[in-house]
Amino acid sequence: MTKKYEHIFFDLDRTLWHFEENSKKVLVAIFNDFGLHRHIEFEDDFIQQYYYFNDLLWDRYRDNKITKDELRGERFKLTLNHFKINNTKLANEIGDYYINESPKQTILLPHATEVLNYLHAKYKLHIITNGFEEVQHIKLSESKIGHFFDQLIFSEKVGVKKPHPLIFKKALKNAGATTQNAVMIGDDYYADIYGAQRVKMDSIYFNHYQTPHQYQTDKEISCLSELIKLL
Ligand SMILES: [Mg+2]
Repeated sequence: MTKKYEHIFFDLDRTLWHFEENSKKVLVAIFNDFGLHRHIEFEDDFIQQYYYFNDLLWDRYRDNKITKDELRGERFKLTLNHFKINNTKLANEIGDYYINESPKQTILLPHATEVLNYLHAKYKLHIITNGFEEVQHIKLSESKIGHFFDQLIFSEKVGVKKPHPLIFKKALKNAGATTQNAVMIGDDYYADIYGAQRVKMDSIYFNHYQTPHQYQTDKEISCLSELIKLL
């Protein structure tokens, strides 16, 4: 890195907070506590179907085709329907349980705390997230990384989601940063990296699973610990 950075903007879900692991823990608890084994043979089928519908609905939410409430209400309804369980009340109860329990989970990506500790001594750190504000606050405090961050920028508050340029501009402004002294780090090429590129901000693509791709990226890492050498 040749530029002199002063500000680092992080995505939260799947970049620092281990969305898959945390979510899986709660889904396993749901499968057991709500007696879903009576209707679905394998726990893993339930989890995979939930991910399928959740991803589908998140894409629609990000494109402003559905609301937050529709996203939250529909994902378990569709999952249960897939297994021929037509019970809206149960779907809503599970939905509420998931919303309450999921942000309390504290599994972070490997080396997250150590890397944040290192970076915090050298840079001002911030979060830009498309996740829901009340939920993201709980994740940050429960996983004990909230104190590392100066500014938290929520798409809900700005009114647009990553990769919209406005959320990046707003984040830079709030932090007192410029595109010249800031870098964005995230796991989602479209939201985080393409988003940063649109405002001509440097970025580091966190490709944790080393998924092959043909994206244009400035820098790429597969483990957060690589940031210690880079920054
Ligand atoms: Mg992410």
